[in-house]
Amino acid sequence: MHEEIGSYLENMKTSPARLTDEALLAEVKRLAQCERETTATLIAHLVEVEARELFHAEGCSSMFKYCSEVLHFSEHATYLRLRAARAARRHPRILDELASGALNLSSIEILEPHLTSENYGELLGASRHKSKREVEKLVRSRFPQEDVPTVVRKLPEKVMALEAAAADASVGPTAAPVQPACTSEGKPTLIAAPPVRRPSVIAPLATERYKVQFTASEALHDKLRRAQDLLRHRIPDGDVAQVFELAVTLLVEKLEKQKFAATDRPRAAREGLNSPRAGGRTIPAEVKRAVWKRDGSQCTFIGKSGRRCTETGFLEFHHVDAFGHGGKAMIENIALRCRSHNQYESRIEFGMHQEDRGQIEFRLYEEERARTKAAGVNRTPGG
Ligand SMILES: [Zn+2]
Repeated sequence: MHEEIGSYLENMKTSPARLTDEALLAEVKRLAQCERETTATLIAHLVEVEARELFHAEGCSSMFKYCSEVLHFSEHATYLRLRAARAARRHPRILDELASGALNLSSIEILEPHLTSENYGELLGASRHKSKREVEKLVRSRFPQEDVPTVVRKLPEKVMALEAAAADASVGPTAAPVQPACTSEGKPTLIAAPPVRRPSVIAPLATERYKVQFTASEALHDKLRRAQDLLRHRIPDGDVAQVFELAVTLLVEKLEKQKFAATDRPRAAREGLNSPRAGGRTIPAEVKRAVWKRDGSQCTFIGKSGRRCTETGFLEFHHVDAFGHGGKAMIENIALRCRSHNQYESRIEFGMHQEDRGQIEFRLYEEERARTKAAGVNRTPGG
């Protein structure tokens, strides 16, 4: 089998295969310690990258994008590291605990929302060398109310009602086992779902096919049944996937019309596309439509390394020459930017005071929450 092992192993000073059992075990321990220390060091550096907002200049709308798309961490690895970074910013001692192996990233993920300047010393101490399950238990015992929101009690009834209804109406969850959830971007939410809540799932089944699974409210269930009835002539078997596709298509069309003034039948521009109404700050609908189309519904910020921001959510119309500096609302002066890059460029343009770290942290946190919420998806607790 060693012939199949790649050049990385061949280039190692000492191949694991040549070590004695004793030396092999000692080396594994040493490497595990190295990995912990490297992770702690990396997280300390990520804190600084985020504080300086360097991810913006690299063409990323958030630290999450930077870690997953530029550093090539998996979404979950990114999530855990950013949670630890947030905890470390407020409580740097966490990095010592991480480096020593007393706490791992999963434990920090569980502890992070509960840490305060008053309790962190005691809470970290009580969690040292505990398994993830033990830390979860510890947190549940200390913060029972936070972990058992009122909605949790009612949810199982609704799930059961939905499943019962689904049995005779081909509506509702599939029989597939519940899996850890990912959003459309594969990104876990920042809030762990309550323990009894069924995680939502969007998982690729094959190229261009996805399994979507989520917990529906009673209202949504009723609306879905109604939509199936109204669509019987077009979708006789009430196929949920087709009904949802149609529903989401209509929703997207409606939202695009609101946000980007998109329309199938654009009115002729009264004064021409490049002649904005005199002096107005308002961007004419025809300019928005043209810009949206030209920019492909994606942020057009280009980072220093030439990387274009991949953000397709939180898009805003950005004045390339700022309105405050006389920039006009014309096609060549308007571009799509994600909110993050729009604000970043405003700060550069107008030399606004940089937000303090707490504000940046809060904004990114809120944006990620909103993004995952918008995807309508949760993840299982922990992981
Ligand atoms: Zn962007």
